[in-house]
Amino acid sequence: MSKSIFRKELSTLKSYVPGKPIEMVMEEYGLTEVVKLASNENPLGPSKRAIEAIIDEASKVNIYPDPTAEALRKKLAQRHGVEKDQIMIGSGGEEILRMIAMTFIDANDEAIMATPTFDLYDITVDHMGGVSKKFPLIDFEHDLEGMIGDINEKTKLFYICNPNNPIGNIIDRATLKNLLGKIPQEVVVVLDEAYFEYASRNPDYPDGLEILKERPNTIVIRTFAKVAGLAGLRVGYAFSSQSIITEMMKTKGVFNVNRIAQAAALASMDDVKHITDTVDLSYESLGYMMNYFDEKGLAYIKPNGNFIFVDLKMDSREAFTELQKKGMIMRPGYIWKYGTYARISSGDMVQTKKFIHALDEVLGSQ
Ligand SMILES: *Cc1c(COP(=O)(O)O)cnc(C)c1O
Repeated sequence: MSKSIFRKELSTLKSYVPGKPIEMVMEEYGLTEVVKLASNENPLGPSKRAIEAIIDEASKVNIYPDPTAEALRKKLAQRHGVEKDQIMIGSGGEEILRMIAMTFIDANDEAIMATPTFDLYDITVDHMGGVSKKFPLIDFEHDLEGMIGDINEKTKLFYICNPNNPIGNIIDRATLKNLLGKIPQEVVVVLDEAYFEYASRNPDYPDGLEILKERPNTIVIRTFAKVAGLAGLRVGYAFSSQSIITEMMKTKGVFNVNRIAQAAALASMDDVKHITDTVDLSYESLGYMMNYFDEKGLAYIKPNGNFIFVDLKMDSREAFTELQKKGMIMRPGYIWKYGTYARISSGDMVQTKKFIHALDEVLGSQ
């Protein structure tokens, strides 16, 4: 009888599939220039103020960072009108999601979520020995009836990705309010708002902080990775009730967010113009893509984040390969069981035009 030395959940745990790195595509296809519209990164880069803060902080990295990121929590609290103790900072939204699973999930506890949605919900729940109850989207929308109907005494977490990644659509304010009325208070609702600044251009988009005011067992997740352009530094944050934040704090890495990341996040909060410019550019890029898709009769989901989900009407594996040969990276839909779809991130206008030009060649040679 051989007994595994590893935690038993690891034998079946799936891995997160990240966007393909630029360097890898360059090497594989012998390219010198690659446009990556695959990981919802900010094509403008970080704010100049963030870059200055990063340079300033470089000479201080012999000193440990503030373990609870007081300055950043204070600034976020002021900005959003909540208490500092209702906020925690993570090494990306990713770490926030890990901490949520560690805080709430005992063996066999259940978590309800859509599929496809952000892949770290089921990975983090399963890792803790929980059971991810995944409800396939219906016509690209959350199967809210199915999800609600599955709530039972084992249900600990209810995940809503809003807008949903990789699809890009939202659950609107009225629908969310109605939904929350049907979820028992003991079930913690996780509202992933990684694309908040983009989505809030839509007047029907609900603000998780308004919900938190009335429903304390809610966790709202946001990040500096997307709109602030700090994906490479890893800073995300969560708002919740003080009692939930207190417990989640016990699960975090002691010095989980490094000095440079904290300094850059703080500085980027002062650059409101960078945020506005980023969101403007993203909608301009996606608008250009939508015009092309309309012309070609390709169906897409109206975007609320910095990416668009489109039906290329060809095998997405093949589209992925052919686009890479032309130095273009997107996310092929087959990984989410949407075989002919692609998720394409917004880029700057030069990248966007190059991408659409290459896509047109790939589609034309079909
Ligand atoms: C990008 C993203 C996050 C957080 O990403 P980090 O880079 O870890 O901050 C969380 N949820 C969704 C849906 C995302 O797309």
